[in-house]
Amino acid sequence: MEIYQIAIDGPSGSGKSTLAKGVAKKLGIMYLDTGAMYRTCALASILENVSPKDEVAVAALLSKTKIEVIFEDSVQHMLINGIDYTDKIRTPEVSIAASDISALPIVREKMVEMQRQIASNQTFVLDGRDIGSNVLPNAKYKFFLTADARKRAERRLLELNSKGDYSQSLEEVLADIEYRDKQDSERSNAPLVQVADAIGIDTSNISIEQTLEALLSHLN
Ligand code: C5P
Repeated sequence: MEIYQIAIDGPSGSGKSTLAKGVAKKLGIMYLDTGAMYRTCALASILENVSPKDEVAVAALLSKTKIEVIFEDSVQHMLINGIDYTDKIRTPEVSIAASDISALPIVREKMVEMQRQIASNQTFVLDGRDIGSNVLPNAKYKFFLTADARKRAERRLLELNSKGDYSQSLEEVLADIEYRDKQDSERSNAPLVQVADAIGIDTSNISIEQTLEALLSHLN
């Protein structure tokens, strides 16, 4: 059977992960959340009191820390030195630190190598910022999602609230999103960018279900 990859890139809160999960389920393929990998590096730095902006300290930390991606029943788990931290990587503090740490070349180098390795053995849909542009430039299908920042903030807030987290206001979530957008787009190493051969979908005014339909229609 042919092994191929589907790349879904876009800014924070554009609906990438919900969509990638939907695609994986529909097609019976694997899903790799690459943001979770940067989040795990960020959590490792927080746990060890290392600044996620300090390249030398982060390099030293990564050289003695084992970051692993494992799949249990096709569900991705993130491990630091053998301990499962999957449910600890979605906090606002980790989000900001992930954006900081992912700008460091040493971090991207390691994570990209792992991503290519994982996606080479099986058919995968991957979501991230640089999948179509850098990690897998030869992916069979490439999508780039966009949505205006306020819409994305509203969705993120709903998601947080649905998990019982009422710690942030809409304005705070929006400020986080704008911070990450700016940093992800302006970094010199593999910035967030729509490549020419990616299909762009603006999800501002359409539901996730409609976006999934639109995306699947391109796969047939
Ligand atoms: O997608 P998610 O919001 O979970 O990603 C967390 C952070 O990791 C992003 O803000 C971004 O800075 C970084 N990231 C990245 N490249 C990827 C995926 C995520 O730089 N492929």
